[in-house]
Amino acid sequence: MDTRKKMHLTKGPLAGRHAIVTGASRGIGAAIADALAEAGARVTALSRSGGSDTQSIRHVQLDLSDGNSMQNVTPKLFALGGRLDVLVNAAAISLPAVVAGDLEGEMRRMRRTLEVDVVAPYALTLAAVPLLAESPCGSIINVTSINSARGFPGNPPYVTAKSALAGLTRALAVDLAPMGIRVNSIAPGYVRTAMTENSYADLKLRSQRQRHTLLERWGRPDEIADVAMFLASDLSSYMTGQELVVDGGWTINGLTNLSNS
Ligand code: NAP
Repeated sequence: MDTRKKMHLTKGPLAGRHAIVTGASRGIGAAIADALAEAGARVTALSRSGGSDTQSIRHVQLDLSDGNSMQNVTPKLFALGGRLDVLVNAAAISLPAVVAGDLEGEMRRMRRTLEVDVVAPYALTLAAVPLLAESPCGSIINVTSINSARGFPGNPPYVTAKSALAGLTRALAVDLAPMGIRVNSIAPGYVRTAMTENSYADLKLRSQRQRHTLLERWGRPDEIADVAMFLASDLSSYMTGQELVVDGGWTINGLTNLSNS
């Protein structure tokens, strides 16, 4: 058994630091919570479904799309620890497309996506700023996507949301720099999680995405988490306002390998 996950570490690049990670019930958010805890941080993990607590990770259930819960839970969340060094906004939704012509349905989809993927990270950030400003090493990490700088078919709400979150990252980097808070984002490429399970299960879609990726494979959540650990730690102490693309070379590839289908 890996005892590192069971015991709270007093050493490591994040020893003594406190982090909040949203979307930490599964996938990339859960991997980030684990990585920060393994680096020595105490982590508060947010999601609707929660998870099993460890010595370093405490799960709190919160629906980021529910304004009332946000208003009730958020102040308690930030009062509890009394210290906050890292906020990771990893939670997001990408909703299935609605039937063509259903304008009302599409507007609901747009509003809900923006609420969870953009408004909630902004609200949490504003709530976190007073504590992060007291930290000597405040760091905010927003998980965007390769969608933040590219157009993709069939999902305007998600593409819009991720572009907005990348913009919010830059805006907040400017506004929060005087308080010593760094704000960066990570743009993952194709990573196998619940969010991408449909395209991964479809062999044609899986292979199309794989062939366009220079490293010729899908990414793993822990490979995104390693970069989050870097951005949370002093290893990135002179970086702010940046979006790190972690996509196996997907975005810089000009020509998909068609011979390998
Ligand atoms: P995932 O497996 O679907 O996980 C999403 C997380 O967000 C879950 O923990 C979920 O928890 C939480 N969440 C969703 N709605 C919520 C709400 N209303 N309130 C609170 N928590 C909520 O997705 P993932 O692939 O790990 O994605 C993580 C991040 O990476 C997202 O920002 C996503 O856009 C980004 N990303 C992923 C990929 C990829 O290929 N997987 C690529 C680019 C970017 P509950 O359901 O328990 O609430």
